[in-house]
Amino acid sequence: MGKDNNVFNREVTSINNPHCGINSDFMSKVRHNWTKEEILEIYNRPMMDLLYEAATIHRKQHDPNVVQVSTLLSIKTGGCSEDCGYCPQAARYHTGVEGNDLMTVNHVKAQALRAREGGSSRVCMGAAWRNVKDGPEFDQVLDMVRTINKLDMEVCCTLGMVTENQAQRLAEAGLYAYNHNLDSSEEYYKEVISTRGYQDRLDTIDNVRKTNVTVCSGGIIGMGENIEDRAGMLVALSTLNPQPESTPINALVAVEGTPLEGEKPVEIWDMVRMVATTRIVLPETQVRLSAGRTQMSREGQAMCFFAGANSIFAGDKLLTTPNPDVNEDMKMFKLLGLNPQKPFTKKVQPQTVEAVDSQFEALGEKPKWTRPEHKIDRNEAAKAKRKLVK
Ligand code: SF4
Repeated sequence: MGKDNNVFNREVTSINNPHCGINSDFMSKVRHNWTKEEILEIYNRPMMDLLYEAATIHRKQHDPNVVQVSTLLSIKTGGCSEDCGYCPQAARYHTGVEGNDLMTVNHVKAQALRAREGGSSRVCMGAAWRNVKDGPEFDQVLDMVRTINKLDMEVCCTLGMVTENQAQRLAEAGLYAYNHNLDSSEEYYKEVISTRGYQDRLDTIDNVRKTNVTVCSGGIIGMGENIEDRAGMLVALSTLNPQPESTPINALVAVEGTPLEGEKPVEIWDMVRMVATTRIVLPETQVRLSAGRTQMSREGQAMCFFAGANSIFAGDKLLTTPNPDVNEDMKMFKLLGLNPQKPFTKKVQPQTVEAVDSQFEALGEKPKWTRPEHKIDRNEAAKAKRKLVK
């Protein structure tokens, strides 16, 4: 944390807000026993009280003028077997997204170098898979992880469900973070996805936690959920022990052809409230502004940074949906006096073990991830529409 900010921290650490009865010293401690009612009370506070509290906690735990910049790279796009209601990559919906093969290691390396030049300290590789399967494709992903770690960048993967052995192999290759979002509350998750259960998500996070890899897990607002669901997701994330090191807060980008195509854009005030509440409930976590940034003004994003967001995704595409241009982001950083976070600021760089020296061999496991397959009307309707278009 910068020197000047420490001076600021000393000034604010003793401030308690007499108007809303908040003791920020108490609030900035990590708690794993948040209740939905407590979180709702925070979310619904008068905006100025909420912002004040979130910003105070943010300054205690993080440098408020430093924002992590990550680049999201779709290494395997489209053709996914899952039915996530928000996702244009699900093969069952007609969204115009073409499936493609897994990227080559060289292509990924070139993209990572470009991202590093553009100020990114992390590359997050996403594959449209239900779960990781041992075999040549996973071996190729492990090579990508080794390659990017050797570029001294943080490497994150989001590949679907993983077993403990697969998580260990990723850790050995030098993976820094694994992303696996909870998306929403357990109750609302069932309204969006029928091809796997919430417990599968939690089990995957648990498998990652058994390694040195950090956990990135968050969700999406604007899917038709209510505020109780947003609070329910934060209960689930805060209960994790340790809490995730990184939490993306996405605003739904309603893509034509998906079951959620008709959802209204998220209001900026909902985003600010969600970011601020996340900051208070997950004080040590890096809170990431993710999908939906193109719909936000610079002023709106600045408000989110003030409320505790300290990470963004850079690059003109977020998997398949639009994202602000890198140059635009850098202009915004200059305007706001923000600096990109250096890699390995929060945790030391993992070592890469070469494939020949690996202690973990592929087990060829066939884990029984669930398939509840309950009926979600809007998912069924979007699927039927695809058949008509075909
Ligand atoms: S979110 Fe992931 S798992 Fe779900 S349909 Fe899209 S690519 Fe598949």
